[in-house]
Amino acid sequence: MESTICYMCDLPSTSREHVPPRCLFPESKDVGKDYRQNLLTVPSCHDHNSGKSGDDEFLMVSLAGIIGNNSIGYAHKFTKVNRAIYRSSFSLLNRAMGNQKWSTIEFGPNKFIDVVWGTPDYERLLRCFDRVARGIHLAHFGRTFRGTTKTVLGYVPSDSPNPAEFQRFVRDKVGLELQGKPRLGRNPEVFNFQFTEPDQFGVFLVHLQFYGGLDVYVALMPEGSRLPGNIAMQLIDMGIQTTITLGEKEYRFNTETGADDSRFSS
Ligand SMILES: [Zn+2]
Repeated sequence: MESTICYMCDLPSTSREHVPPRCLFPESKDVGKDYRQNLLTVPSCHDHNSGKSGDDEFLMVSLAGIIGNNSIGYAHKFTKVNRAIYRSSFSLLNRAMGNQKWSTIEFGPNKFIDVVWGTPDYERLLRCFDRVARGIHLAHFGRTFRGTTKTVLGYVPSDSPNPAEFQRFVRDKVGLELQGKPRLGRNPEVFNFQFTEPDQFGVFLVHLQFYGGLDVYVALMPEGSRLPGNIAMQLIDMGIQTTITLGEKEYRFNTETGADDSRFSS
């Protein structure tokens, strides 16, 4: 029988929740093709319904306009997402991104695009991806995930050197583990996902990809899984120069190089 317990907690469900949120998927009236086929839903209690908290629109605004998306992401951004931003008098955008800097980029003869740079609301983003990962887990495996998650955003270049190198390391490591595995999801150009096999500690990971180019990695650590103290991660946290090798590649942490903030087109 289908579960009627919330995907996030032990309360009875009061509604069904789309994972990821429905508003991320463009409608045919905006982009000419229906990308809302067979969307995944899970049972949700009142408190964990992200539509009611505004997290749905927050995630939509945070993801759809990011440089690196495919054309569907942009088409969505320039229709539904901008309508929502204008309707909110820009408060939706302001909540999604702080320290905004606007500039205009010429991308062809007399063709301009406004680009806004800024710092995403990481804490809220991580909360949203935790929910997406748990929802996808329930929809895919048919059971609730119990444990903790840790998210690495693969698409937000950071001004601190470690996250950029850490993103590169995670992307390559997960890429190796997922080699040959199918990308799941009925609208893969908008959203697809892949699960790794659990490692010897029971820890596994889901790779979420939005709009063909935004990669998010969520590690799932089940209750009772015992992680050994990882000396390399401790050295990195302490600011000590550390090199990790994966196959023939090297990843250097706590060196001097940096990168930019996230870039959005507006
Ligand atoms: Zn709940």
